Amino acid sequence: MQLSAILLTHFHADHNGGVERLLELYPDVSVYGNHDLQMKDDDPLHISCFPSFRVITTPGHVYEHVCYLFDESHLFCGDTLFSLGCGRVFTGDFDAAFTSLNKIKDLDDNILCYPAHEYTLNNLAFCMTLQNDRYTKLYDNIEHKLNKHGNSLPTLLGYEKEYNPFLRAHDKDIQLSIQQKYNLNIDNGFECFKILRELRNKF
Ligand SMILES: [Zn+2]
Repeated sequence: MQLSAILLTHFHADHNGGVERLLELYPDVSVYGNHDLQMKDDDPLHISCFPSFRVITTPGHVYEHVCYLFDESHLFCGDTLFSLGCGRVFTGDFDAAFTSLNKIKDLDDNILCYPAHEYTLNNLAFCMTLQNDRYTKLYDNIEHKLNKHGNSLPTLLGYEKEYNPFLRAHDKDIQLSIQQKYNLNIDNGFECFKILRELRNKF
């Protein structure tokens, strides 16, 4: 195989730790998404054999985070979205993080998402603390995928829209579950998202 380019979603060491070594082997390839080159939505990537990559900026986890949508059908979403979860908001800017997730939510249901971490089972355990009945039924399916393939990814965006609580923060049913369980008052999606993220941090 020939390396054509390196596409980074953000600068955390578990995402860019191999770049230096790769550049020793392939000194001429372009590196996209590195720390000092802030990207904008729909910035062009000049990768000759893969012309159809689209940049989607998703600040929140870190300000510089970007996702890459390939061929309008495969989304490399780094630490923005996980299956049944989302990345920590290290910036503290929940507004930006929520906007970024909603940007992903607006994309087509048939897109396959490739998060950077396999956290699905742990995320499911968290979801079960919120709505046990709704989520218990997903357990066997995820466990089966993990046993068979060693991971549960990629994940379909339509499935995430239906089950990922961080994409469902507008749903009254999840707001009500949290309200009842934690005796909190939630009246909008953004509040719900913030509380979900805080609960997940402590989980
Ligand atoms: Zn990260």
